[in-house]
Amino acid sequence: MPSPELLARLGELSDLRHAGQLLAWDQMVMMPPAGGPARGQALGAIQSLAHDRLVAPELGALLDDERADPQLVRVVRRDHELASRVPSELAAEMTRAGSDGFAVWLQAREAGDFAVFEPALRRNIELARRYAECFPELEHPYDALLERFEPGTTTAQVTALFARLREGLVPLLGEIAGQPARPALAGDFPVARQREIGMQIARAMGFDDSGWRLDDAVHPFASSPALGDVRVTSRFDDHSLTGLFALMHEVGHGLYEHGVDPALARTTLDTGVSLGVHESQSRLWENLVGRSEPFWSFWLPRLRDCMPQALGDVELDDFLRAINVVRPTLIRVEADEMTYSLHVILRFELELALIEGTLDPADLPQAWATKTRELLGIEVPDDLHGVLQDIHWSEGIIGYFPTYTIGNVLAAQLWRAARLDMPGLDDDLRAGEYGPLRDWLVDKVHRHGRRLTPAELIEQAVGGPLDPAPMLEHLSSKYRTLYGL
Ligand code: ZN
Repeated sequence: MPSPELLARLGELSDLRHAGQLLAWDQMVMMPPAGGPARGQALGAIQSLAHDRLVAPELGALLDDERADPQLVRVVRRDHELASRVPSELAAEMTRAGSDGFAVWLQAREAGDFAVFEPALRRNIELARRYAECFPELEHPYDALLERFEPGTTTAQVTALFARLREGLVPLLGEIAGQPARPALAGDFPVARQREIGMQIARAMGFDDSGWRLDDAVHPFASSPALGDVRVTSRFDDHSLTGLFALMHEVGHGLYEHGVDPALARTTLDTGVSLGVHESQSRLWENLVGRSEPFWSFWLPRLRDCMPQALGDVELDDFLRAINVVRPTLIRVEADEMTYSLHVILRFELELALIEGTLDPADLPQAWATKTRELLGIEVPDDLHGVLQDIHWSEGIIGYFPTYTIGNVLAAQLWRAARLDMPGLDDDLRAGEYGPLRDWLVDKVHRHGRRLTPAELIEQAVGGPLDPAPMLEHLSSKYRTLYGL
């Protein structure tokens, strides 16, 4: 057992994280708008308490003396180092620039004009460079930015991974884009009914009322302030079923947090290990389970009963084609399973060039348009449908986008490994039974929390490093079948 002094300090850090997450959840889900300024203050106070405790020299000394749990020491030392290396003036300046940047980004969107946003973006890029300079031992400045979200992953690895994806996805998309357009599902899908069937699906996946909540949020997210307290959100609308997929996505995130070994509670190891690994859990449920034929062979009859007017005479094959339409879009959050990664590759290549200084922020709209043409084959009509669409850069969040695609890549690898381990998996899905898959994911991924590094976790779960081949094979075989190529 680690020393009681160390455990007490880590417990307090976990409690502060708990309080901060709860305030943030409340802000997104419950708080009346006028509470915003006071909430910003309260969140800032919690963050600065947590930061002070994390960089405390006493914590460093306890880590130096700790012999009992090397994995725990490695993770906490990493957090301590990451926070200690960045001078507090720089950290405060980044926070200010992020909140100013967000406000300016809203104005730029209002005006539909990137020029309004450019100075704020320039400042965020400059600060990100200064942040990276705090880690001179890293090979590439962007490595330091990635490290915040995907510990241990390097720019060189992401570059190589994305190059292979690009090579596989662009020609496949070209073939599909040449096919006649497929009709989308149309009709009225009453929100109350969607929520009802959504809850049935969520409960079958593992949502249990004693430890979970479902609420509405404009931008769906999942949050788990502590073990035993999982909060998911979705957004349903009467004209589409996207809310059901968003719900499966968020329940996938929730299952990860729910499945962490209770012995890790309040040790700072009691949460997901990286954003990419987290996203692999949500994408696995949303896409590999939730858009598959076995899944809907169970649920479509139930959905039809629930919404006979809209879906009474929709056949399974047509339904599957409709929920798996591939169409290049300008907006990332509306992208389908196949084109999504192309949106991420575009953003990665651009932010890397901005950090390296080979692209000036003023030239960004032009570069965005060029890459959209190369990767998706479509034209960007204006800044709102291009460079102004994502919130991330406005808040100084650079190095984050790649984690979305790392999640998709890993989801396909895990899916392949799960199918090999469980030959009856499709039969389970056809029966609406997810217990064996959930147990498998708990064993391979969830229970470890942050105890293993992302690379160790991936190696143990799928027997090798991140590999884009299973995702490319999955997409190719799925869409060749659906589109009769
Ligand atoms: Zn997600």
